[in-house]
Amino acid sequence: MPDGKPADVPCPQLTSDYRCQLFGKPERPAVCSGFLADEDTCGNTNDKAFELLRELEESTLPDRA
Ligand code: SF4
Repeated sequence: MPDGKPADVPCPQLTSDYRCQLFGKPERPAVCSGFLADEDTCGNTNDKAFELLRELEESTLPDRA
């Protein structure tokens, strides 16, 4: 996605079981490889992580009015 990933659009490298197809490969974007998970962004459970991600996606959706 050379122009960035719009909110509400999954990364094309994301598999149906939420894994990165590029994990461990040199072509994985630096922004992904450099991301360090912490409780503020990921919570401490999988459910909390998805809740926080949904909030981020909704808060960054473009105005569709
Ligand atoms: S880690 Fe990066 S490349 Fe991999 S699925 Fe997530 S956004 Fe896509």
